Amino acid sequence: MKLTAIKKQYGDTVALEIPEIEFANGEITAVLGESGAGKSTLLGAISGMISAEGTVEGVGRVSYLFQSAKLLPNLTVLQNLMFVLPKGSDTAAAMEMLARVGLQGKEGRYPRELSGGEKQRVAIARAFLFPHDTLLMDEPFSAIDLSLKKSLVELVVSLWQEKRSTVIFVTHDVHEAAILSQRAVVIKKGRVLLDIPVTGELPRDFFNRHPVESELVRALVQ
Ligand code: ADP
Repeated sequence: MKLTAIKKQYGDTVALEIPEIEFANGEITAVLGESGAGKSTLLGAISGMISAEGTVEGVGRVSYLFQSAKLLPNLTVLQNLMFVLPKGSDTAAAMEMLARVGLQGKEGRYPRELSGGEKQRVAIARAFLFPHDTLLMDEPFSAIDLSLKKSLVELVVSLWQEKRSTVIFVTHDVHEAAILSQRAVVIKKGRVLLDIPVTGELPRDFFNRHPVESELVRALVQ
């Protein structure tokens, strides 16, 4: 995916200005920045939900994972998954995905009958079930307890390893970036401040501190 001469302004505020950035196919990039840095604007420019100047190439089909699960309340877990597949699709793939995310037996439940972590598992299942080339993740673990976060991060990594979609992962958490990305981009006032590789094979040890974390913290507080 390649973005060229991207610019988005709101009045006098430059929300995003990136001359050129490329995201390799099948790679996970973490995008960090303080509130108002331009992270959501970047995701919006990539998905086309925000109209920005410039060109965006090679995005293909986009799937999303947000901070809140955004499930349809009147549909069961299985129906929430079937909703993203073509009408008349067989339920086998959705059922298999539910087993994959540890929700076998819960397909008939409604979102209100699930815990927060279970809802986010359904959202993860839905995001990966939808046929996509690019996955945009907008702070998907921000509202999740640390103990739960570990299992959800591991889940996302293992699903990504099978799918190898291009992932843009917005987070404000340097530890999340360190355990779930191969590259980290820090943006400030709409511009790229730091763009560095995050070394090591995925999955990474959740309990290890990665050297990239201090570098990211330094850039974030600049
Ligand atoms: P982040 O996601 O990193 O918190 P955003 O991309 O939402 O940042 O915002 C970047 C900048 O653009 C901020 O200064 C924000 O106030 C401004 N902005 C975002 N959306 C709008 C909008 N709809 N109208 C006016 N200003 C906006």
